[in-house]
Amino acid sequence: MSGRTTPRHIPRKRFGQNFLVDDGIIAGIIEAVRPQRRDNLVEIGPGLGALTTPLLERLDRLHVIEIDRDLIARLRGLHDPEQLLIHEGDVLEFDFTALGESLRVVGNLPYNISTPLLFRLAAFAGRIRDIHVMLQKEVVERMVAAPGDAEFSRLSVMLQYRFDMEKLIDVPPESFEPAPKVDSAVVRLMPFTTLPHPARDEGMLAEVVARAFGQRRKTLRNTLKGMVTAEQLAQLGIDAGARAQELAVADFVRIADAVAAPA
Ligand code: SAM
Repeated sequence: MSGRTTPRHIPRKRFGQNFLVDDGIIAGIIEAVRPQRRDNLVEIGPGLGALTTPLLERLDRLHVIEIDRDLIARLRGLHDPEQLLIHEGDVLEFDFTALGESLRVVGNLPYNISTPLLFRLAAFAGRIRDIHVMLQKEVVERMVAAPGDAEFSRLSVMLQYRFDMEKLIDVPPESFEPAPKVDSAVVRLMPFTTLPHPARDEGMLAEVVARAFGQRRKTLRNTLKGMVTAEQLAQLGIDAGARAQELAVADFVRIADAVAAPA
């Protein structure tokens, strides 16, 4: 030890900074990830290094993406630049293709950007091996919800289209400093190597799903008016009187395919 002290970092709310301080939870995440020396792994938002340090102990090198310059300066001072590759900037603008193939993604994510971040990661799913992230528990419950569940939503459909997902660990507010106002959970996302229900036009699928869930209490007959008729829905085996929440991913894909290329 050099005896040099690192100044205390004041957590920044605007960057969603709730730092993990629970050793049991940190160990649980590392065990779930099972990093292997040569893995191509990127951590989003390393912060004060709660996950970064144990990851670095197990990896030859680690990429991190961090927006806070003070935290970046700290990380630079603490780690070998050959082992810790720091990408400074906003993860929502980060080009993940720069990191190569078979990418493993880990992060205790800033909750204020979690939905756009999940959609961004989905866009790079082809080069991602797996994702382990901490999120607000309510968001994780929406991600893994089944058709008919109250939590089944646009996020559920768009992520279940691309990923096999599993909630792994429940994390209480006391595991963070400062403690957030909400419960959290760690979830694993594994991109399907072959999509179970590939859509002919994924842009159209996104549009149909957004429209159907835009007014979730209304029936498909109303929300999809101008896109498909009740008769077309019946031909696809879908009840026009149903609500978006009752449909499976495969149903949305059938609708999107019919709209994209009408018979
Ligand atoms: N990994 C640390 C931990 O578990 O204690 C920190 C987690 S904290 C919830 C979120 C981290 O993401 C912070 O370090 C924050 O500065 C960073 N962050 C916030 N918004 C970001 C963005 N748009 N792009 C990259 N990093 C971001």
